[in-house]
Amino acid sequence: MVYPIVKYGDPVLEREAAVVTEFGTPDVHKFLDDMFESMYAAKGVGLAAPQIGISKKIAVIDCSNGENPAEKIVIINPTIIKVEGKQEGEEGCLSIPGFREQVRRAKRVTVRAQNAAGEWFEKTGEDLLARAFLHETDHLYGKLYITHISALKRDLMKRKIKKLQRGGDWG
Ligand SMILES: [Zn+2]
Repeated sequence: MVYPIVKYGDPVLEREAAVVTEFGTPDVHKFLDDMFESMYAAKGVGLAAPQIGISKKIAVIDCSNGENPAEKIVIINPTIIKVEGKQEGEEGCLSIPGFREQVRRAKRVTVRAQNAAGEWFEKTGEDLLARAFLHETDHLYGKLYITHISALKRDLMKRKIKKLQRGGDWG
């Protein structure tokens, strides 16, 4: 099942999601399948549960865009435990469609999280994967990438979005 993506302006995107306590059940597996399906349908490399209106600490990532099953990653109740280096690059968000901004992020990031079975693991990613770990973990704490850009750029973006909302082009 493909869920519609919640857009910027919905309060679910800006509050901390709930800790997940249910693992390994058919419901959990079905939900994760639906999250991957929704992410691929929206052509994203990461999707956090609040972006489909579910305020739980679950995110899925696939930097191969569905090309390589080995790159499918589920992070539940994640925390970033190590960051190294810097990278500059454009970042966007499925919940803020039509906008992209330069965002400075760490180059190498280690996340600690639980998998679908509830087992804890640590995984280190570089470049795009590092960016995805940071972006998606931020989502689960109610933080959007626009908090990492200048106030000037953020205000400009918010004004453009308000205009789209007024015109009924945002949803
Ligand atoms: Zn996002």
